[in-house]
Amino acid sequence: MSGDIRVAIVGGGIAGLAAAHRLGELGLEGPYVLLERAPRLGGKIATERAGKYVIEGGPDCFLASKPAGVALCRTLGIEDRLRGTDPRFRRSYVKRNGRLYELPAGITGLVPSRIRPLLTTRLLTLRGRVRAGLEMFVRSRADGADESIAGFVTRRFGVEAYRWLVEPLLSGIYAGDGEQLSLRATFPQLIELERRQGSVIRMMLKARVGRARPAGSGGAQLGFVTPVTGLDEIVEAIERTIPAPAIRRGVAVERLWRDGGAYVMRLGDGVELRAESVILATPSFITADLVAGFDDGLAAALREIPFVSTATVSVAFPAAAIARPLDGYGYVSPRAEGGPVVACTWTSNKFPDRVPQDGVLIRFFVGRAGAEEVVRASDDEIKRLIRAELERVLGISAEPVLWRIFRWPKGMPQYTLGHHDRLARIEDATGRHEGLFLAGASYRGIGIPDCIDSGRAAAAQAVRYVSGVAA
Ligand SMILES: Cc1cc2nc3c(=O)[nH]c(=O)nc-3n(C[C@H](O)[C@H](O)[C@H](O)COP(=O)(O)OP(=O)(O)OC[C@H]3O[C@@H](n4cnc5c(N)ncnc54)[C@H](O)[C@@H]3O)c2cc1C
Repeated sequence: MSGDIRVAIVGGGIAGLAAAHRLGELGLEGPYVLLERAPRLGGKIATERAGKYVIEGGPDCFLASKPAGVALCRTLGIEDRLRGTDPRFRRSYVKRNGRLYELPAGITGLVPSRIRPLLTTRLLTLRGRVRAGLEMFVRSRADGADESIAGFVTRRFGVEAYRWLVEPLLSGIYAGDGEQLSLRATFPQLIELERRQGSVIRMMLKARVGRARPAGSGGAQLGFVTPVTGLDEIVEAIERTIPAPAIRRGVAVERLWRDGGAYVMRLGDGVELRAESVILATPSFITADLVAGFDDGLAAALREIPFVSTATVSVAFPAAAIARPLDGYGYVSPRAEGGPVVACTWTSNKFPDRVPQDGVLIRFFVGRAGAEEVVRASDDEIKRLIRAELERVLGISAEPVLWRIFRWPKGMPQYTLGHHDRLARIEDATGRHEGLFLAGASYRGIGIPDCIDSGRAAAAQAVRYVSGVAA
């Protein structure tokens, strides 16, 4: 058995990578190791290049308003590589009865924040619009119970606004079922807003009055950002900061147990590693298998977090094959429309640097809670589904010049009702194992900045632990 490792990180997705980078920043004394099952680092971040096309198989950008992503890029010296989405096309659509309707302006943090676009949108019937506008007069709920996103939005804005405005946006983020997702675990700011202000719209209106309007439609307003040639620029930049011997790719941690004050890991190649502290930056169902050997209760709590399987399908065309101009970032397809297509991004509008000049790149997001079978379908079946969607919704019948399908079985953790209580039990149990820390998308945020935060926090705790400083 090789020994003397101070901190072992299991999982080389963005959370594990951020943890490894933070260990270096904090000047951890002694060796650490990052163990990744796959032959490449990055996990869900999967950038592929085909000629001048940049294809993202997983995430394609991240929220700039959550500081951890941009801050990490700054530290890595690649902040100047970040680009916002192209402001010329800042508009999105919602599919209703197979037709595309423009998403009303002013949807902020999932809910409508402006009255006029809400009252004039053709996406909702007159009755639906009036009901949504009455949100200002709906009494707030104060019992503090965990409520589903569907419950909250329907109660405040009515069923139509939920079904055609909010649910499709929600699916685009979590691929989840709004009847099951916990508001407290996903959009806690809305609970606070209702409690303090009574009405979402009223509070947003107040905030707008107090805020100077941005000049123009805003090149400087960076909602979502990404490095010019893809998110794997971040992965590579982090990798450059980690000493090469500390990275072990293509080797899974198969077993984990405690031995005295240390942790022992058996790797897929039979090697046993001993570490003072372990950061498990794996999805919670894998983390459950790893801790099961020494804490059944923790494993059981981790297994309660459900996951949904999804896939992305990218297709490219010569610009001449697109008869109807794609004038926006794409569309979302509500659950009420049926079928496994959740969203369609017009990537070449969103990120023009990622295609050749005469190329159009379109990406579909398929699979959601209750419609996950598509992820197990053959490539041919998926291609048939996408061709039919292209023809029906966008009028594109040309044969794509490029196809890329990325499957993410159990790829999206679901923060369902009770997630907070579940987390409390998980964190309680983890806290009883000195030197053990968890990180990653399964717990307190699935976005890239949240995962970075979780990795950095776990690394800081591990350094405090091995340095003998009380946490
Ligand atoms: C299709 C899709 C689109 C998304 N779009 C966006 C987006 O646009 N913006 C955004 O912010 N977020 C997006 N997300 C969410 C975000 O990408 C993920 O939540 C995040 O990348 C997860 O990072 P992670 O490090 O927690 O986990 P992962 O990336 O899953 O990394 C975990 C790693 O652990 C490794 N591993 C597993 N088991 C073992 C083992 N036994 N031993 C060693 N290693 C192991 C895995 O191989 C993997 O590399 C998207 C997710 C998906 C699936």
